[in-house]
Amino acid sequence: PPFPLKLDGKVIKGFGRGSSELGIPTANIPISGLSVGGHEDVDSGVYYGWAGLSPSKATHQHPPHAQSDKYSHLSSGLQETLSAIAKDDSELEKGAVYPMCMSIGWNPFYKNTVRSVEVHIMHHFETDFYGSHMNLSILGFIRKELDYVSKDKLIEDIKTDIEVSGRSLAREPYAKLRKDPYLLEFE
Ligand code: ADP
Ligand code: MG
Repeated sequence: PPFPLKLDGKVIKGFGRGSSELGIPTANIPISGLSVGGHEDVDSGVYYGWAGLSPSKATHQHPPHAQSDKYSHLSSGLQETLSAIAKDDSELEKGAVYPMCMSIGWNPFYKNTVRSVEVHIMHHFETDFYGSHMNLSILGFIRKELDYVSKDKLIEDIKTDIEVSGRSLAREPYAKLRKDPYLLEFE
């Protein structure tokens, strides 16, 4: 199916590996909210796009993640560009739109019968946001799902994915799609 793909839903508990094992938090949402009918048509792999996050309900206040600021892996020029794009956060009460990098992949927790969607938002958050609503506009595909023998190799690739996502989203045709009203329409 053509881009943008749209996916929205509530942030749920995942496998619990993102932050603790990899140092890169990924907000999980159910794949059932995908805009295309049979989501079987959507390839597993790594994608990038924009994420609209509903205002935090503050019902789930967890301690801040020690290491959630993986945004800092981006080259400094790119960080500046992206934060400039994200500057107009005057709309924080309505929610906010952030750059994201995500994967669709088979979830070992469910014996690989269910695919999971995991979204790394390229922004530093002071608290968790389980239960928040997330509207995703998926704009491009980076690579297929791979099997890793080493955790370090996996982390290295995720950092590259994040850099590639940032660089793509900073380009004008993608940057302007941050204004898609859908991203801030929460039910
Ligand atoms: P889980 O397995 O439950 O998804 P993770 O260790 O992957 O746990 O952490 C994900 C959670 O961390 C998200 O649901 C969200 O509440 C929080 N979080 C904090 N910062 C970020 C971020 N930059 N990107 C994604 N999730 C984040
Ligand atoms: Mg996760």
